[in-house]
Amino acid sequence: MARTITFLLLTLLLSCQPKSQTEPAPKQYSVPAEVEPYVQAFLEQVRQRNISVPSDNLIITFGQTTGQDVCGQCDRSAGKTPRITLKADGDCWKTAFGQEREALVFHELGHCWLNRDHLKTQFPIGAYVSLMNPDDVSVYATCRYPIGGDVCDKRPRRGYYLDELFDPKTPTPAWGK
Ligand SMILES: [Zn+2]
Repeated sequence: MARTITFLLLTLLLSCQPKSQTEPAPKQYSVPAEVEPYVQAFLEQVRQRNISVPSDNLIITFGQTTGQDVCGQCDRSAGKTPRITLKADGDCWKTAFGQEREALVFHELGHCWLNRDHLKTQFPIGAYVSLMNPDDVSVYATCRYPIGGDVCDKRPRRGYYLDELFDPKTPTPAWGK
C-alpha cells in the first residue's frame, strides 16, 4: 500500500513540473576564435572514433573559475547548453604551450561533451592514468620543468591520453607499467 501511495505521489510530482524545466534550451554555439582550433581538433578525434557529441551546443568564455579545476570549468546541467569557462591569465592560457592549451580544452570537453568525471588514479611511475585527473592537464605536454623522476617531454604520450579520454577501458601503455 505504502508503495502504491509513493508511486502515486511521484507520478503527481513529476506531472506537476512546469513545462520550462522539461523543454531543453535552444542550442547555442559560441567559442572564442583562439579556442576554436582546439575544439576543431577535438572534433577531429571524435570523427576518427566514429562517436558523436553535441557539437552544435557549446559556450566557451574566458573568465574566473570557481570549481575544482584551476584553469577551467565545465558547467553542465540537463537541458542547458554546456558552458566552459577558461582562465585567461598566466600558465593557464596566455603563456601555456599549445599542448597545454589543447589538453585544458580537451579536459573540459571531456566533462561537457563526454560526460566524464574526474579520475585521480596514477600509474606506478606516478603519471596520471587520465587527462581527466583534477590536478594536472600537462600529462602530454612538452618539457617545462623537470619534476620528480618521470620523463620531462611527455608529447609521445598524447596518443594514449586521447584514447583513454574517449575510452576509459584503454589498456595501460608500456610506459605506465
Ligand atoms: Zn575537471
